[in-house]
Amino acid sequence: MKWLDRQSFLGINSDQALRDAVIGLAGLGGGGSHVVQQLAHVGVGNFVVLDDDSIDNTNLNRLIGGRHGDLPKESRPGTDKVEIARRVIVDINPAAKVYARSALWQVEADRLKGCDLIVGGLDSVRAKSELEGFSRRFLIPYLDMGMDVHALDDGYLIAGQVALSMPGCPCLRCMGIVRQEALDEEGRNYGAAGGKPQVVWPNGVLASTAVGLAVQILSPWLPNPISSTYLEYDGNSHTIKESTRFARIKNLPCPHYPSNETGDPSFDVRKVLDTPAPVQNVATAAIPAPSWWRRLFGWLAI
Ligand SMILES: [Zn+2]
Repeated sequence: MKWLDRQSFLGINSDQALRDAVIGLAGLGGGGSHVVQQLAHVGVGNFVVLDDDSIDNTNLNRLIGGRHGDLPKESRPGTDKVEIARRVIVDINPAAKVYARSALWQVEADRLKGCDLIVGGLDSVRAKSELEGFSRRFLIPYLDMGMDVHALDDGYLIAGQVALSMPGCPCLRCMGIVRQEALDEEGRNYGAAGGKPQVVWPNGVLASTAVGLAVQILSPWLPNPISSTYLEYDGNSHTIKESTRFARIKNLPCPHYPSNETGDPSFDVRKVLDTPAPVQNVATAAIPAPSWWRRLFGWLAI
């Protein structure tokens, strides 16, 4: 048997589809570290992992793949979180290709442009919004995860969400995950969103849910995959369900990302014209002219 045979129900050619997939992950903390581990297990073949942070002893309660030996010593800093992610992936699947860079995702944005799906494990609301905006511009599905702990009169509520933001469908603003008040609050705190309570099992539930949504997009598993959703997690009752707000808005158009704001604003056609044509490829591939070309220029007998 081959290593992915027990998931053959995902459909014919699912192994190939997952092996060819390129997944970008920005934020390799508690949630993101679960996601890379699971995507490696299901056979995703290509990863772009970006996070500028390194492990410290407060991460050991939840960072999948983090080891005591990775903690900072007097002689060296802690292991980069992206290096831990890379190690987890290739320990499971040595054939996987991993582009790991200890940097903010904005520094490596060009790498993300080529991804089939982007997963955000970012803490701050502004960071989520910026990464979603980038994904929308390049028409890439974006999966967002987040968890929080709220003080109640008689204890604490663990809550979280998983959102699949698909171009043309409701965005994180439509869903109410990105709200102006939250952005303003972060602005007053200079963008600080770290230090929030975090534990391993809610991150695992949210990440597993996100991976399920990713696999149903990437593989032929479901005939009608979910293209957009906002799922709310109640960690005290251990339930996940579609947000009631999302149920109201899911068929409405998103007013925040108009279609005329897609594409690469830095694209320069002169750079394309400067690039020599790949003569050999054209000669051997016998690429037919597109039909619109023949209709427009057929009278020239091209
Ligand atoms: Zn919207």
